[in-house]
Amino acid sequence: MQIYNTMTRVKEEFVPIEPGKVRMYVCGPTVYDYIHIGNARPMIFFDTVRRYLEYKGYDVNYVSNFTDVDDKIIKRALQEGVDASVISERFIAECKKDMEAMGVRPATIHPKATEEIGGMIDMIADLIEKGFAYEVNGTVYYRVRTFSRYGSLSGKNLDDLRSGSRSLLVTGEEEKEDPMDFVLWKPKKEGEPSWESPWGQGRPGWHIECSVMSRRYLGEEIDIHGGGEDLIFPHHENEIAQSEAESGHIFTHYWMHNAFLNIDNKKMSKSLNNFFTVREISERYDLTVLRLFMLSAHYRSPLNFSAELMESAKSSLERIRTAVERLEDARGRGRKRPLSATARKAADAFTRKFEAAMEDDFNTADALAALFELVRYTNQLVPKNRSEEELEYLRGKLADMTGILGLRPAEKADLDAQIEALIEERTQARKAKNWARADEIRSYLASQGILLEDTKEGVKWKRA
Ligand code: AMP
Ligand code: ZN
Repeated sequence: MQIYNTMTRVKEEFVPIEPGKVRMYVCGPTVYDYIHIGNARPMIFFDTVRRYLEYKGYDVNYVSNFTDVDDKIIKRALQEGVDASVISERFIAECKKDMEAMGVRPATIHPKATEEIGGMIDMIADLIEKGFAYEVNGTVYYRVRTFSRYGSLSGKNLDDLRSGSRSLLVTGEEEKEDPMDFVLWKPKKEGEPSWESPWGQGRPGWHIECSVMSRRYLGEEIDIHGGGEDLIFPHHENEIAQSEAESGHIFTHYWMHNAFLNIDNKKMSKSLNNFFTVREISERYDLTVLRLFMLSAHYRSPLNFSAELMESAKSSLERIRTAVERLEDARGRGRKRPLSATARKAADAFTRKFEAAMEDDFNTADALAALFELVRYTNQLVPKNRSEEELEYLRGKLADMTGILGLRPAEKADLDAQIEALIEERTQARKAKNWARADEIRSYLASQGILLEDTKEGVKWKRA
């Protein structure tokens, strides 16, 4: 299996630290509001990576944090006159609902920054002791010049960064030894959550959180670390500086970063106010459609959000679901004949294609293409009354592929809603005397085993 490593900028063969096991950390959201669909891209993609690794037989320890102490959370808490934890708890709960609706499985563990402060204080103290950090007036900074590999992930040169950032120095940070030094611990401001530390009351910087949580739940050395490409610098660069300075050895073997979800070719973000929340999209679509849309591009390619692409993802999903349903309907109706070697070979070719795509740096776009080939093949086969064993073999293949991509079958409630929407469309078509469309809908529903009855109280329907 090949994975593109941001650190080396090439695809590398995946070799886990411990055979059969994968230790994986994905930076999670800051919980001050509903997540937007840009945040959903890494969630959906890395969940798919995890599912594929599990399909390959790996035991995956998947850790993803919630950043629940942050300026934006504090700001909102002050606006609403509540404790910061009220805001973060509310949006962690909402985020979990969105994840579930997008088919993103809960991580093995979802640590929260506020519950890991002790570990952060220990790591900061250790970095000070080893000479990698220093304290001035209650603030602790990381001493960037002591870490010779600083800039290796982002390909940035420390001198260039320094000259660029001198003019950007925030007031109050003149006390830094070097403009590139970053904060590990900051002193308490009035009205902010804070914790006791050897440097006085205060709270941790953002970067130290992930170094500590990843070490606690996965160990000092991990296989895969993921997130959106905006995290490469400074967040992941700083995580490397902290973790490797402390342990004295490599932190992450494979760095993976997804490209942005854009809108009008600009990054979707809260600050540009050009976002849709996952919740908003859920009012118009089953979120499995959003998932399929996200996986229709390779994760390292930018993806532009549009109504057309969502509609196309919607009809693609319907095609997959129809094939699954046809196979279900055919259950028990196939011939009692064993699966022939030729039939097995034909079906296996789709799996090979699918796996080859996933093994090539998780090319979900090509994997989906293989799934659609299988869907077409299934649709041709089912009416031909093939062997029951063959149909069962195809059911298994479809279940594997849709399971890896997290494209779950439609819930009965979704199906009912779809049927009712079509019936409503037919009623409107009849009112508009568009008999062709009305008939088309009736015969489509009949082909799906749905019978319509026009009554005085309106249209009634039942499953045949
Ligand atoms: P944040 O809450 O901003 O720290 O973001 C949580 C995760 O979402 C990080 O991995 C970000 O890189 C990712 N992310 C944020 N916006 C986008 C976007 N427009 N496209 C893709 N990933 C994004
Ligand atoms: Zn992180």
